[in-house]
Amino acid sequence: MVASIKTHRDEVGLTDGELLIGGSWGPGSAERTWTHSHPATGEDVASFPVASPADVDRAVRAARTAFDEGPWPRSRATEKIRILRRVADLVRASGDELLALQALDNSVPLSFGGVYGMSAAFVADVFDHHAGWVDKLAGETLPPYQGGDHLVMTLREPAGVVAAIVPWNAPLLLTAQKLAPALAAGCTVVLKPSEYATFAVLRLARLIEEAGLPAGVLNVVTGPGDPTGDALINHPMIDKISFTGSRAVGRKIIEASAGTFKRVSLELGGKSPALVFADGDAGTAAALTMGTVTLGLSGQVCLAQTRALVHQDKVDEFNGMAEMIAGMVSYGNPFDPAVTSAPLINSRQLDRVLTLIDAGRSEGARLVCGGTRGDGELAAGNFVAPTLFTDVRNDMTIAREEIFGPVLSVIPFTDEDEAIKIANTTEYGLAATVWTADIKRALRMTRALRAGTVGINGYGLEPHAAFGGYQQSGIGREGGRTAIEAYTELKTVLIPTTDEMM
Ligand code: NAD
Repeated sequence: MVASIKTHRDEVGLTDGELLIGGSWGPGSAERTWTHSHPATGEDVASFPVASPADVDRAVRAARTAFDEGPWPRSRATEKIRILRRVADLVRASGDELLALQALDNSVPLSFGGVYGMSAAFVADVFDHHAGWVDKLAGETLPPYQGGDHLVMTLREPAGVVAAIVPWNAPLLLTAQKLAPALAAGCTVVLKPSEYATFAVLRLARLIEEAGLPAGVLNVVTGPGDPTGDALINHPMIDKISFTGSRAVGRKIIEASAGTFKRVSLELGGKSPALVFADGDAGTAAALTMGTVTLGLSGQVCLAQTRALVHQDKVDEFNGMAEMIAGMVSYGNPFDPAVTSAPLINSRQLDRVLTLIDAGRSEGARLVCGGTRGDGELAAGNFVAPTLFTDVRNDMTIAREEIFGPVLSVIPFTDEDEAIKIANTTEYGLAATVWTADIKRALRMTRALRAGTVGINGYGLEPHAAFGGYQQSGIGREGGRTAIEAYTELKTVLIPTTDEMM
């Protein structure tokens, strides 16, 4: 049995969650609650209200009033910058607590918090970065087309009331990537965390309040898609939906947006390739690729490189190192510093991953290691052994479907053209990595790959760089200018300066 997480819950002082509506925390209509069960042990962690459609309506109306009448959209740049920077400082100061709450949510091990992309420092940097945008969201002055000296200019204005919906795998980071640009642009927000990772996000919301955000600017409704998410995305007073999650829910959001033509940003899944050429460092490539699929979140990462396209001469070297990384994975209580990797988030996801592994076997892929559910002391959690398949073809189910678990598929290739064809034969397009010693090849591949992010001999995540996907990996980008501009509307202003121009 994995050691109980209850002592950690008590240490961090976690209590049942509440809704934040119009500046007040409370249980909402209290019709239903959701009890979160810990993915590593099956223990009940704590409960939170399932916001009803009436609760969601109150939250949206509070955000609407705060947008239409409140101070935030009209506040001076200095005020917005001060508050967003204060959020960053509070997040840094509360880093250990936030990561502990995240471990109680989704069991991501504390040992993984040192990885920049999963750290509290990254979350704080996202707020700092966007604070820097507040006084730079400028329009333009254009030369007049009709002659004369009349003014033609554009203004950037906040998009309005934003529904921000986030998944469970990296709740703090993904929440920050929505809230920071939305608030910096002057929008007001109704945030819905995942029902599988609510508590760290609720704490982040309290820190944002503590930083001095006016009441009603940030509202939080907790609960699952049905009824909470559904009520939020269909609410006519929402101007923009910013969503990170699955394609299935992404489609519902597109449909829900049609009624009132809501603006939509979608960050969806991936089936990202790592291309390892004969002149590439296959050992490092295997360590990083297998690492993204097994360490930390155990492959429950949108940009995990789950298809390793390996030159046929390098397959043995690659597989040897990948198997070694699999052997380093240690499962258990996320607060144990020796634990490297998380369980799957819930039993539904556990069944799905095991079913996909069975499909890999039955469609003829060769299982090198893993493929089984954790037993013995891991039996109460949703653990799956780190799994490596080789001799995979790109048309097999395990090479096409986003598995969201610790499963890597190795697909051999013989030349560059074949590699690029395999890499781009996917419904997704979130990320890719190229491993080669030849800079010209690296740049050729970078151009040819249809993916939102390309790493050359490595990769990472940066708070100020655009992140998002081609094809069915999403619509829009998070991070940087493109992301914050997606929380604005552009208004053209025409000012004739002589009577002739009227
Ligand atoms: P999910 O789509 O099941 O849930 C995401 C969020 O949507 C949750 O808050 C959920 O409660 C909510 N939701 C569910 N049904 C809804 C509905 N009908 N209306 C409104 N909201 C609803 O996804 P998940 O399982 O939580 O997360 C895993 C997925 O997220 C994977 O596909 C992964 O690739 C993707 N993801 C993408 C990125 C990225 O940046 N591209 C980052 C992380 C995760």
